[in-house]
Amino acid sequence: MDGRILILSGPSGVGKDTVIDTWRARNPRVKRVVAYTTRAPRTGETNGIDYHFVDRPTFDRMAAAGDFLEFKEVHGNGYATPLRDLDAMLHQGLIAILKIDVQGALHAMNVRPDALSVFLLPPSYEELERRIHGRASDSAAAIALRLQNAQEELAAAPQYRHRIVNDDLAATVQTLEDLVSE
Ligand code: ADP
Repeated sequence: MDGRILILSGPSGVGKDTVIDTWRARNPRVKRVVAYTTRAPRTGETNGIDYHFVDRPTFDRMAAAGDFLEFKEVHGNGYATPLRDLDAMLHQGLIAILKIDVQGALHAMNVRPDALSVFLLPPSYEELERRIHGRASDSAAAIALRLQNAQEELAAAPQYRHRIVNDDLAATVQTLEDLVSE
């Protein structure tokens, strides 16, 4: 049985993690593709679950060997989607979720035209602001930056195959379920 790739993007705070976690609780076939990174683990992060934490030589070697579907540098740290893990999940018939930024997503769509792509939209800009504030984990400066980035990311929404307004969480998850069942 073949699985599906689902590329999921949306501005920070729109609810990507919440949607993925809720969907996974309901459908055991849904799995996140764990990204590789060279950045140090933060408190509470587990290797192999949050990220595969690797050193720079390992990351560069994998990139050169073509082990990544896409990779990029952010603030001097490498982030990448591993091809082998992705293909293993597809062979197992899983729904492989790639939670990636717009740039990585557009690249992934080109390389894997079979992938479903979904951009999560907030019900309103004010609601996005509320959700970012509600998480309470960010400084005022980080919140301002996230909101500024959100404007740019939202402009890419039309390039995704589907757009879902993440208003009611259960409805969002149902829409995703319907998309992968089509
Ligand atoms: P992201 O992963 O996109 O950065 P999170 O999943 O961390 O976003 O969600 C940001 C905040 O918005 C969290 O406090 C979460 O509980 C809340 N949230 C997510 N989805 C919804 C929803 N459909 N309705 C209301 N609040 C939501």
